[in-house]
Amino acid sequence: MIYRAHFVLPITRDPIESGEVLVRDGKIQAIGLDLAASLPDEPVEDLGHAVILPGLINVHTHLDYTIMRNMVENQPFFPWIRRLTELGGRLDYEDWLASARLGALQLIRSGVTCIGDSTFSGAVVEAAKEAGLCGTIYLETFGSDPSAEYEQQVEALAERVHELNSNAGDRVSVGVSPHSVYTSSEKLLRLVIDLVTDEGLPVALHVAETQEEIAFIKSAEGLIADYYKTFNFDLKARGKTPVEYLHELGLPSSKTVAAHCVHVTEADLDILAEEQVRVAHCPKSNAKLGVGTAPLTEIVQRGIITGIGTDSAASDDNLDMFEEMRFAVLAQRAVKENVEAMNAQRVLELATMGGAAVLGLDLEIGSLEPGKQADMIAVDLSSPSVFPSTDPYSALVYGCSASDVLMTMIDGEIVYRAGKYSRVDSGEIKRQAALSATKLY
Ligand SMILES: [Zn+2]
Repeated sequence: MIYRAHFVLPITRDPIESGEVLVRDGKIQAIGLDLAASLPDEPVEDLGHAVILPGLINVHTHLDYTIMRNMVENQPFFPWIRRLTELGGRLDYEDWLASARLGALQLIRSGVTCIGDSTFSGAVVEAAKEAGLCGTIYLETFGSDPSAEYEQQVEALAERVHELNSNAGDRVSVGVSPHSVYTSSEKLLRLVIDLVTDEGLPVALHVAETQEEIAFIKSAEGLIADYYKTFNFDLKARGKTPVEYLHELGLPSSKTVAAHCVHVTEADLDILAEEQVRVAHCPKSNAKLGVGTAPLTEIVQRGIITGIGTDSAASDDNLDMFEEMRFAVLAQRAVKENVEAMNAQRVLELATMGGAAVLGLDLEIGSLEPGKQADMIAVDLSSPSVFPSTDPYSALVYGCSASDVLMTMIDGEIVYRAGKYSRVDSGEIKRQAALSATKLY
């Protein structure tokens, strides 16, 4: 099938006006102008005043938290995350699955084809597989008691990862997430690092998200430390930043996705660059929780491999990658008082090729190039909010929203098209999610 649109945006080369993409057997076979002329028997689908581009890659989210949207509002970060954890205690696996299915539905509806997701319930593996999403799903583990032993917990984690991996299908792989340095003790972190090093598993964790996290690791002070002191935990002041601390523990950097990196020093940026740590930038979540915004300009200038993530609906609400890209540009420009701090083309590269590199999938996805997996989307440019559009980068980043997505294709399969989902029943998903959400009220 040849897909034609007003613009084709390959990302790795200039936009093509009235461009075409030939898709066969789940792969992009060719891209350019007038492909139909030399292939008279090939069917052509003209998407009209739209742009065809690679699927968006949401490198940091928690789809099983989707029904937590609007559940905890206007709280500082640490009380917020504690309240979410308490609410989560009311849900069983079927509830987490209902929630993850709702998140997956929103992602394919909004042009996301690939995810980096951290899940404690593990339900995201099942939901992503059903929806047809590709990506890496990191099974979370927690344990903040410095004196506790975690050998059995990490053995069970390894078993669960193997089990989930064997049922994950071709498009999804399963890694590990020791949630953060403030929810994982040094012992737990060391055991997880041994596991992922031995097995070559991908890792994700939250890093330098808040000033409270910095104070906790550096000086064993602040809100987080005060909370743990109520359990008589023997806390250590590390005298280091979270990035330095993880580096010292020997986290296998090039397999690691560090989400947030809001409060990072020059020395931290050196480590992230030299060790090829992957960074997930989640500016809307950081802003909503009032924790700051990461120095994206500097992160990108240093050549650090970076993608864009929404984080969960509990802090991002709509999981709209268009809004996330827009916010990423505008926040840098606002904070830096500099129009050159970030731009639409660069952020779209981060949300596609950047995300693919973060997840180690840049040879397979992230751009429209012959031989790559046909993960592509079509976005309508005819709505009054973006029409007429002479620059597809600006139109997509400054004007478009999730609702402008016309089609989402993953591995050559159309999973969403004009309000219809090929694999899932959206009405049933919403019904089940609403039912599970009643446990949170
Ligand atoms: Zn997160």
